[in-house]
Amino acid sequence: MIRLLLVEDEDRLVESLTQGLRTTDIEVVSARTGREGLRMALEDDFDIMVLDIGLPDQEGFTVLRKLRANGSDLPVIILTARTSAEDTVRGLERGADDYMAKPFSFAELVARIRLRARAPQDGTSAEVPTIEVGRCELDPLTRTLTCGGLDIPLSPREFQLAQLLMQRRGDVVTRAEALHEVWGGAAKDNVLDVYIRYLRTHLGSDAIETVRGVGYRFVG
Ligand code: CA
Repeated sequence: MIRLLLVEDEDRLVESLTQGLRTTDIEVVSARTGREGLRMALEDDFDIMVLDIGLPDQEGFTVLRKLRANGSDLPVIILTARTSAEDTVRGLERGADDYMAKPFSFAELVARIRLRARAPQDGTSAEVPTIEVGRCELDPLTRTLTCGGLDIPLSPREFQLAQLLMQRRGDVVTRAEALHEVWGGAAKDNVLDVYIRYLRTHLGSDAIETVRGVGYRFVG
């Protein structure tokens, strides 16, 4: 069992993560403010913290700094805005172990939690969960995709879309799902078509099938 302290003020995100992790070996305890999160991290025994930067009472960076100043070496994954590379650098400089850019995929967060958590209880939990479909293999941790042994250079968005498609292992991803998962629902519909075209350029036109009126399917 991995004990996760989730410091995040967005109710929806806390709920969906708690729900999503229910069937895994990761137990979630959540705090809504930086102050509460810091207190819990110092008083209780956790294997990892997932820390939002934008908290109502103080920045996640402040929580991180105080945590380290109190001598805690609890592994910390920070949640940053996708657009802010500066946040990522600041976080890592201040003692974060890893970061996730919002919006992120659930599978990737779980993979990072397993990788960074203090004490994986058995050998399997430290394993890197690569996703294989056809000739393609995607590694969520190193953010690399290889097909037929060749490295495919992808932008972060292209990678996220490829990961979403590959996770389904041949099942259809609907357009609405893709727009929600990769763009947080904040993009125009045709952005997806553009990115599918980019991926086909990288992977070959038949790597991704269009399911008319529904969405897309990765066949590798
Ligand atoms: Ca927040």
